[in-house]
Amino acid sequence: MRYAPIAFLIVCFGCTSDQQTVYQPQTKPKATTVSNFEPARTITDTFSIDYVIGKFDPATHPDFTLIDKSVASNGEMRMRKDAYHAFLEMRKAAKEDSIDLKIISAVRPFYHQKRIWEAKWNGARKVDGQDLSKTMPNPVDRAYKILTYSSMPGTSRHHWGTDIDINSLEPAFFEKGEGAKTFEWLAKNAKDYGYCQPYSQKGEIRPHGYNEEKWHWSYNPVSLELTNLAKRYLTNEMISGFEGADAAPKIDVVGKYILGINQECK
Ligand SMILES: [Zn+2]
Repeated sequence: MRYAPIAFLIVCFGCTSDQQTVYQPQTKPKATTVSNFEPARTITDTFSIDYVIGKFDPATHPDFTLIDKSVASNGEMRMRKDAYHAFLEMRKAAKEDSIDLKIISAVRPFYHQKRIWEAKWNGARKVDGQDLSKTMPNPVDRAYKILTYSSMPGTSRHHWGTDIDINSLEPAFFEKGEGAKTFEWLAKNAKDYGYCQPYSQKGEIRPHGYNEEKWHWSYNPVSLELTNLAKRYLTNEMISGFEGADAAPKIDVVGKYILGINQECK
């Protein structure tokens, strides 16, 4: 690592401003900034634990790109370039079958998810019309309730830039008409472009995790590696840094939610 020269300003309270001294150190100072990619947390050439839990900035990450607003609900979303190129190919093929695919949500970093989670945790944002901080004092019950709709920070596949929500977040949209046709097309063809549906129907085959999301699709050539890294390196205790995080080990959020996905994405 190279260090830029740093000048320390010794501030003397009570001195006049011309008595303040600029001190130029003779030796290189020790780096004190904590990088998102600390060597100790790097687990492969490409990914770190911090990447897996969404603690990096997609705006400056070289593997990410802005999503063109012609294929999305707004022009401010980002995702991984590899997943984006595959999506564009899939969108082109869908168009030929008169199916229109639009991205309505893409990468969401840890701190974005933390804001959503804590607003629900504290009651600033109601869940099913309830202020959960009042109606659910038990932290595990409250966490389970929020998990019905939102990921716990550090456990969302949206941290990875490989996962996108397509067309609508309403289960009813995919039940008939255009929505049903779109889902049918994706269920049949998405795998040809590397995409799979991680939150498939819950039941005997997928007993744990989030409810079915017909809009959520994952670019498996990359997300499979990230799932495997989570399985190998992530513990429930690492899911921390937000209100309600103590519930993570009690729920086994890593085992049940991160790994509670469709077999086709494993
Ligand atoms: Zn999603």
